[in-house]
Amino acid sequence: MHSAMARLYPICRSITGDGVRATLDVLAESLDIQRSAVPSGTQAFDWTINDEWNVRDAYIADQQGRRVVDFRQHNLHLVGYSVPVRATMTLSELRPHMHTLPDHPDWIPYRTSYYSRDWGFCLSDRQLGAMDEGPYDVVVDTTLAPGELTYGELVIPGDSAEEVMITSHVCHPSLANDNCSGLAVATQLARHLSGLPSRRYTYRFLFAPGTIGSITWLSRNADVLPRLRHGLVLTGLGGTGSLVYKRTRRGDRDIDRAAAHVVSRRGGEIRPYSPYGYDERQFNAIGFDLPFGRLSRTPHGEYPEYHTSADDLSFVKPTELAESYLAVLEVLDVLENDVRFENLSPFGEPQLGKRGLYPSTGGKAATDEVMAMLWVLAYSDGSASLLDIAAVGGTDFADVRGAAASLHAAGLLTPTRGPGEPP
Ligand code: ZN
Repeated sequence: MHSAMARLYPICRSITGDGVRATLDVLAESLDIQRSAVPSGTQAFDWTINDEWNVRDAYIADQQGRRVVDFRQHNLHLVGYSVPVRATMTLSELRPHMHTLPDHPDWIPYRTSYYSRDWGFCLSDRQLGAMDEGPYDVVVDTTLAPGELTYGELVIPGDSAEEVMITSHVCHPSLANDNCSGLAVATQLARHLSGLPSRRYTYRFLFAPGTIGSITWLSRNADVLPRLRHGLVLTGLGGTGSLVYKRTRRGDRDIDRAAAHVVSRRGGEIRPYSPYGYDERQFNAIGFDLPFGRLSRTPHGEYPEYHTSADDLSFVKPTELAESYLAVLEVLDVLENDVRFENLSPFGEPQLGKRGLYPSTGGKAATDEVMAMLWVLAYSDGSASLLDIAAVGGTDFADVRGAAASLHAAGLLTPTRGPGEPP
């Protein structure tokens, strides 16, 4: 996943343009991604798809032609969606168009101006400090013209037409954690799910630019929305902080229960919904009311490297990606397998030993495996789900699921349906 991230990191992405298409090209090397291209000017609910933005070059050069700020050195140097400029300007004239981070003098900030036509450069405070009054040649060689908004989608069919949807935004340039990490984990997840012999749910992956991309997707997929049972936004899955799960707007959906179980068992943090953040706020909007949670590590804005050049490939460690990936797998394991059973031998504890389910040497403390079976037997009255039982037992869902499988195979359990559940 880290090397996948390293491939994506150098690409200059934005909400539209060649960078999004190049990103989807990379993802398409291992996934059968379907692309959609929606023309500039198209209305999507309250939004209109912007003109497409592309960059050929951008720099500030001194009178000897030396580039003192150069887009080719780092794509964060150019404010996203900068309009074309060719001018000779003094440093004083340039200053209103320059962005630095005085508190972190070696870092380049990330800035955009999608919806008001403007231009600017981002640079380290140290670079700015080394500049004299000039004058400078300022070149922003960009195009901003009718084109398309592009997003990629992958649907992996399951036994049920009901869907689990996973999204990751594709609109940030060279920022590793936000969100090459999400793209890398989502890609690995899609590859894993595609390789399974079967799945309960159909899985849909959406790789779209933030906000406008998800709103555009929502505007064009009204037929899919009733089938969306669970949703998860993946972003910022690297960095040293623990896992953080952000609940859906209603806060008590199945995805909330599944993710809260997994993330809290891994020592992570569960947070309530807030209407700010990533694309979860579009899916959860009242008009859709879809059950989308969000998994990250330390969330946006809460780590100093956020939206700066310090969010680079060294900021995200392979072990962090691996833990995030395993956590998502565990959440999906709950969604796929959280069923209810009825104990078929409820009059006292069934004799596990004669079924080969109990260690033959008595007197030792019960193993975790035996304890998980006892929890399942104790609570499987047909109304408690395996996740309910994992919660009362204080055990991992996977252990309870494994115990239930053994008991089911031994004829001690039968699956049931909860109230209101379809047959
Ligand atoms: Zn961001």
